[in-house]
Amino acid sequence: MTKDIRLRFAPSPTGALHIGGLRTALYNYLLVKKLRGQFILRIEDTDQTRFVPGAEEYIINCLKWAGLIPDEGVGFGGDYGPYRQSERSSIYRKYALQLIDQGKAYYAFDSTEDLERMRTDLVTEQNTMPKYDFRTRIKMRNSLNLPKEETEILLRSGTPHVIRLCVPPSEQVKINDVIRGEVVFNSEELDDKVLIKSDGLPTYHMANVIDDRLMKISHVVRGEEWLSSTAHHVLLYRFFGWEEEMPVFAHLPLILKPNGKGKLSKRDGAEFGFPVFPMNWITEKDNFLGFKEFGFLPEAVLNFLALLGWNDGTKQEIYSLSEMIEKFSLEQIGKSGARFDFEKAKWFNAQYIQKSSCSIIKSYIVELYKSNKIKIDDTECDTIYSLYKDRVQLLTEFYSQGKYLVSDEIEISKEYIEKKWNHQWYEKYSKLISEFVLLQIWDKDSLESVLKNFMERESLKMGELLPALRVMMSGIPTGPDIYLMINGLSKDKFINKLKMSLEKIKLAKV
Ligand code: GLU
Repeated sequence: MTKDIRLRFAPSPTGALHIGGLRTALYNYLLVKKLRGQFILRIEDTDQTRFVPGAEEYIINCLKWAGLIPDEGVGFGGDYGPYRQSERSSIYRKYALQLIDQGKAYYAFDSTEDLERMRTDLVTEQNTMPKYDFRTRIKMRNSLNLPKEETEILLRSGTPHVIRLCVPPSEQVKINDVIRGEVVFNSEELDDKVLIKSDGLPTYHMANVIDDRLMKISHVVRGEEWLSSTAHHVLLYRFFGWEEEMPVFAHLPLILKPNGKGKLSKRDGAEFGFPVFPMNWITEKDNFLGFKEFGFLPEAVLNFLALLGWNDGTKQEIYSLSEMIEKFSLEQIGKSGARFDFEKAKWFNAQYIQKSSCSIIKSYIVELYKSNKIKIDDTECDTIYSLYKDRVQLLTEFYSQGKYLVSDEIEISKEYIEKKWNHQWYEKYSKLISEFVLLQIWDKDSLESVLKNFMERESLKMGELLPALRVMMSGIPTGPDIYLMINGLSKDKFINKLKMSLEKIKLAKV
């Protein structure tokens, strides 16, 4: 019988969703759509100490922004709920007790001091890594060592305890990972993981395995950091007698810092000056910028992320979502870490801005100006769009580069004035402005001949004139074709801008 295809994205609401988390969601989504299955959002919130308010909502909003809409899950309904693990706590204990009955798990009553002592003994006396495992458990206070009656008394009297997995020595634990091939662990390397904590809630391992089973998950696609946990998960499947029906495992490669040195962390955004989160995450403690607010289109982010670890063996770079779905396969995901290249992300965004429908971009432009308290009309929006759509890499640049077209407030580039502006130019440009004022016919030809004469007369090069004019118009030395820029303004506005900017440059006294 063929299994239904059911994949889950299972984030923990411990903070903002890292961009790597969005890639995990995307890979799950691509595979699910390709295999025509169900995409499930499960919230893994059993660690109450790490719970962060607002994080769950943030995760859902990020998925919605990216268009990765779950078929089932928290906020989306479905027949396998509840999909929030904290609402499933009554389910897990039963399974843990079943393991205890079979001798595959046990109660442990060790106090924090007992555990501390065991750790210090091991480190100082035996110089080994402290682990609660088949070597040490015989010395500890647990139901394997205590007389049955004593265990019962302790349980009845409500003595704090955990339930631990009883990992047997000398068993082979094999994981057939689609990306990494066969990964074999010797059970002696594995500790007796806690399954049920003293607060009665399950640990990640327990809840994850039980829920994958009960929610009939067919494929587990998650980050590489979970590979070592999978050994414990396989043991759990074995003990429950479910090993033959385990999900397919695929552990995704890490996303690395731009310099390739180590995993991309949430703090790297501030260090390298780019976002590492899909959307802004601003709390009392954190202030992280998001791709969305930085000016990215979700389609561009998905395309960029898809290629951070996967390629279909060709040199193709631009994929529509449906094309990605059609071509995606777990087998073509690389094993080694993928370097996060923000310049590449911007390149993708520029491609998508150029090919995106003009109505989508225009409505974005209107909103962008509105959020900067400038109301623009259709004609102004058209001008901004057509002048900048082939030039910008970020949507926000429609504002930072194009605002001169509708606003008098220009910030003159300091760098340009310091490095390129020549103080003897004030006089020359003042004269040029007067010539513009006198110009009767305001078209490209006439402007061209004024500028040509000016350059010859004042012995200026094109590379000096054009940046200077652009700075006087928009504040920055780069921009679209100069005549298109001038054309975007009326004659009066153009002349006024030049006058005001020249004055500002003079006053700046750089
Ligand atoms: N809750 C884990 C996380 O926060 C998910 C691991 C998994 O997908 O199994 O990433």
